[in-house]
Amino acid sequence: MTRIAVVGGGLSGLAAAFRLRQHLPAADLTLLEARDRVGGAIGTDRLDGFTVERGPNGIFDAKPHTLQLCRDLGLGDRLIAASEGSRKNRFLFLNGRLHRLPGDPLSLLRTPVLSVRGRLSMLVEPFRRRPGNLPDDESVAAFARRRFGREAADVFIDALVTGIHAGDPEKLSVRAAFPRLPKFEAEHGSVIRGFLRAAKERRKVGAGPQRMWSFREGLQVLIDALAERLGPIVRTGKPVSRIERGESGWRVHTGGAVIQADTVVLTTPAYHQADVLRELDPELAAEIAGIWYNAIAVVALGYREADAPNRPDGFGYIAPQNTRRDVLGVQWCSSTFPDRAPPGFVLWRALCGGVNRADMVELPDAQLLRAVHAEMRVTMCVTGEPVFTRVVRWPRAIPQYEVGHPQRVDRIDRLAARHRGLILGGSGYRGVAMNDCVEQAEAVAERVVGTLLVPFLGEPAASAARVGSHPTG
Ligand SMILES: Cc1cc2nc3c(=O)[nH]c(=O)nc-3n(C[C@H](O)[C@H](O)[C@H](O)COP(=O)(O)OP(=O)(O)OC[C@H]3O[C@@H](n4cnc5c(N)ncnc54)[C@H](O)[C@@H]3O)c2cc1C
Repeated sequence: MTRIAVVGGGLSGLAAAFRLRQHLPAADLTLLEARDRVGGAIGTDRLDGFTVERGPNGIFDAKPHTLQLCRDLGLGDRLIAASEGSRKNRFLFLNGRLHRLPGDPLSLLRTPVLSVRGRLSMLVEPFRRRPGNLPDDESVAAFARRRFGREAADVFIDALVTGIHAGDPEKLSVRAAFPRLPKFEAEHGSVIRGFLRAAKERRKVGAGPQRMWSFREGLQVLIDALAERLGPIVRTGKPVSRIERGESGWRVHTGGAVIQADTVVLTTPAYHQADVLRELDPELAAEIAGIWYNAIAVVALGYREADAPNRPDGFGYIAPQNTRRDVLGVQWCSSTFPDRAPPGFVLWRALCGGVNRADMVELPDAQLLRAVHAEMRVTMCVTGEPVFTRVVRWPRAIPQYEVGHPQRVDRIDRLAARHRGLILGGSGYRGVAMNDCVEQAEAVAERVVGTLLVPFLGEPAASAARVGSHPTG
């Protein structure tokens, strides 16, 4: 019987183990999680009538993988869509007030956040030619300036990067962080044209504009369902410190114990994978250690509706990081999903930190809460104190895919291929969104199945050990 150890019980590890269980029901499968609970960055707290997400707020249906996983777990009829208002109304906080983000070319023409010149520069994007001598990779900011002009890059692209990666647009790799943008440019000659075609394709298959989804009780439902389905193979409180090659396969060190496995799937954050692999392969570990993580604090605040006169029907706002405000953005959770706050109250989640304001994450709770509440007075015009607060810190929150990341992942692929039966996955390599994690987990499970078939098919063993799969855009 083949023995498989999955290390890490975040979404990547849980989804990989679930798919492995489906592909190989007879395998001796174990999932090792360091903490006393699985879920990693995902989890929901239900406190004083408020339902607060500690990490992600919901599942985007831009890619189908997470929603399909939910359906495969029998959760399809429990999924709830974000409100219509939250889909349409997203805001920027700029120049002292909230501005609705333009949703179509006409409203882009009228948006006051760009000068007339900035708007025109953005609108002529479809007519800009792609230079022939582009480097292998470029920063998100350089790409955006080239396609949309400086003003739009400073406002909209910074906001996009703030909202997803809380990273530095001058440093993040456009190919790794936003693969669809260069893909659209290469395939359609224009990013705008690419998006319009993609929207048309979605309409053709009956899918409307993109939406966010969750459960009435929060994303914890997905994690609990995965843990329940996997049952006793999930072993919490088992931090893995090292793996080594033994006579009969891999030896996985956790606490004082050693677990034997034919295949080891690492889905933990990159910095942890680097630690685990350091003795086995210092070169591989050094490459992986080069992927660093930013820090984020999630600050949830509940206000009485009477103290929050400004309650827009929308998703929330982003303050582009180049404005260096104390809050990167606020999600209006109770406007997006029902029952996030008790009747008569609102629940908002402020995100602080990121690459430019890591200092915010270091503040003691009381100071952090004071700073965020002060922002809420300015941006949301609240008049009273919050009645509910919850702070969650993520000192190493989101991996930063810097320029050169795709090449780094290729090098990691090549080095990992030296170790038969070692599979690397998780959010450190090919996408940070939940959908990316689930997509990669499925690729990882298929690769494990592939490695087991190798002796029978006579393929070269080296092809078996690769990181995730190719980016799909
Ligand atoms: C604040 C925040 C907001 C986000 N918002 C969104 C969003 O709205 N939408 C979206 O799609 N994505 C969002 N994301 C991203 C998404 O949540 C993550 O990319 C995803 O959950 C990562 O899953 P993972 O399993 O790869 O890693 P993790 O969730 O980090 O899981 C790794 C697991 O490995 C375990 N581990 C660590 N060390 C060891 C060890 N020594 N031995 C064994 N186990 C170990 C950890 O305890 C953890 O459980 C957000 C992330 C954060 C932090």
